[in-house]
Amino acid sequence: NRPIIYCITPTYWRYVQRAELTRISQTLKLIQNIHWIVIEDAAKKSDIVRNVISESKLIATHLVAQTASFEKFKDKNPKAKRHRGVEQRNAALNWLRDNLVLGKDKGVVYFMDDDNTYNIKLFDEMAKIKKVGVWPVGLVGGLNAETPIVDRTTGKVTGYRSGWLPNRPFAIDMAGFAISLDLILSIKNANFSYEMAKGMQESEFLSFFTTKEELEPLADQCTKVYVWHTRTEKPKVSGIIPGLEV
Ligand code: UDP
Ligand code: MN
Repeated sequence: NRPIIYCITPTYWRYVQRAELTRISQTLKLIQNIHWIVIEDAAKKSDIVRNVISESKLIATHLVAQTASFEKFKDKNPKAKRHRGVEQRNAALNWLRDNLVLGKDKGVVYFMDDDNTYNIKLFDEMAKIKKVGVWPVGLVGGLNAETPIVDRTTGKVTGYRSGWLPNRPFAIDMAGFAISLDLILSIKNANFSYEMAKGMQESEFLSFFTTKEELEPLADQCTKVYVWHTRTEKPKVSGIIPGLEV
């Protein structure tokens, strides 16, 4: 029996939001036993997100959690925010801890940003996780891929290839790991925080749960790329056609 995979997706309004969420929801439709947790960075739930979720017919939980205003620069560009997804991922972790029961509910938790690209094979890999599974992520950190380095004889992670602070305790992108629900439910104080230095969210979060030696390298001992840190170009919209939800 496949474990439930809880996919946590922070999302915020911009012209490509519906396109991104459509793409990700239709990827998830190809997988068994998905529970999609979508958290809007907004004051209240939007029709766009509500409609994508209901159209998908996925088992889903729709939450809101707004990024603190002190975290935003005056800049109008949302990319200029220092931390992205902190509040939203924490809201999802709280939901899991409030609604699921350690020992009874079983599964795996994955942080699934709305703009990345996912091979459905990744979810077969996640089904193997005992505590924390890791794998390469394509097109990130200024490299063609970042990856844990795996000792082929012991099958253990010995270090990381990363374009960004490779000496972090866990030099792994948000898309490059998933954690068993048991661990998420048992270590209740493990959260993301604005206090964590820029680029240290993943490493500090993983440090609550595991050690480098314990990591479970997946995707053929980290030789396969099943997820890409793609980023969608911001479209230039100079006219609005009324009456269309785009
Ligand atoms: N996000 C959000 N609010 C924001 C910016 C981003 O909720 O103001 C979400 C976004 O939809 C994505 C995740 O946080 O699911 C990571 O953001 P982004 O993809 O912009 O980060 P990057 O690709 O630069 O790591
Ligand atoms: Mn992204």
